[in-house]
Amino acid sequence: AKALGEGGFQRYRPGMEARANQRVRLAAELAAAVDEEQFVVHYQPVVTLPDGRLTGAEALVRWQHPVRGLLGPGEFVSAAEETGLIVPLGRYVLREATREAAGWDGGRTVAVNVSARQLQREDFPADVAAALRDSGLPAHRLTVEITESTAVGGGATQDTLRELRALGVRIALDDFGTGQSTLSLLASCPVDQIKLDRSFVPGPGPDAIAGAVLQLARALGIEAVAEGVETAHQARRLHELGYTLAQGYHFGRPEPAAGTRIRRAVTGLT
Ligand code: C2E
Ligand code: CA
Ligand code: CA
Ligand code: CA
Repeated sequence: AKALGEGGFQRYRPGMEARANQRVRLAAELAAAVDEEQFVVHYQPVVTLPDGRLTGAEALVRWQHPVRGLLGPGEFVSAAEETGLIVPLGRYVLREATREAAGWDGGRTVAVNVSARQLQREDFPADVAAALRDSGLPAHRLTVEITESTAVGGGATQDTLRELRALGVRIALDDFGTGQSTLSLLASCPVDQIKLDRSFVPGPGPDAIAGAVLQLARALGIEAVAEGVETAHQARRLHELGYTLAQGYHFGRPEPAAGTRIRRAVTGLT
């Protein structure tokens, strides 16, 4: 059998049906997992340079799969986006993360990743407002992280971003520098922060790009965070370039809330 029938775009190749079946099975499992809330949110610290003081964390979703164990977003987020299940899943992450962060002290912030499918929905700002209200988290302590591909959704998406900002929520542009038209996006979208993609952190990347991105953020009057900082040497270099905020394995891996420095700081068990 041909996977797409007569006149299909793809010719049949061995293994194609198996892969298609796998995708169907994954979609069905995901739907059940969303129903049963088989997801957990891990938190990765965001710290100041050079002293490593905790300022907040990024929420990163994991799937506690009943058979396959704990799965990272690379295994299921694109399937969730394709099937639209990212909408209820994203709502779950938003509610979990705001509830968790409301218990953190010192005004620490939480960042939540948001997909295009979520941002394109008219009721997304209302979902965010409800999560803030129900958790008691002040709006300025929530950052919504979008990528360039999330934001290139036309005017509706920009209206949504403006509505979010009107609520007092902050917007971060994630994976900064990896997109096709990052600069024009920055010119047209209201953002509060850019996250330098880890490929541009000195070490893998040249100092010049990390430095230029920081100057750009300064000129725009917005924050810059360096992502994927893995070594003390990288942290030092970023500090020398003027970065004051960083995230990466060098400072802490994503962990369940109970294991993070944030909770320990709150409960005094540091
Ligand atoms: P991201 O938003 O760019 O998140 C950063 C990713 O880099 C995370 O991977 C994190 O664990 C990893 N990372 C952090 N520090 C380091 C480091 O020092 N070195 C290296 N090599 N990697 C580091 P993770 O958790 O696997 O998430 C992958 C992507 O999945 C995220 O990339 C984000 O785009 C997406 N994602 C995660 N959670 C959600 C969610 O709740 N909703 C949506 N829509 N997407 C999510
Ligand atoms: Ca992110
Ligand atoms: Ca990123
Ligand atoms: Ca990403």
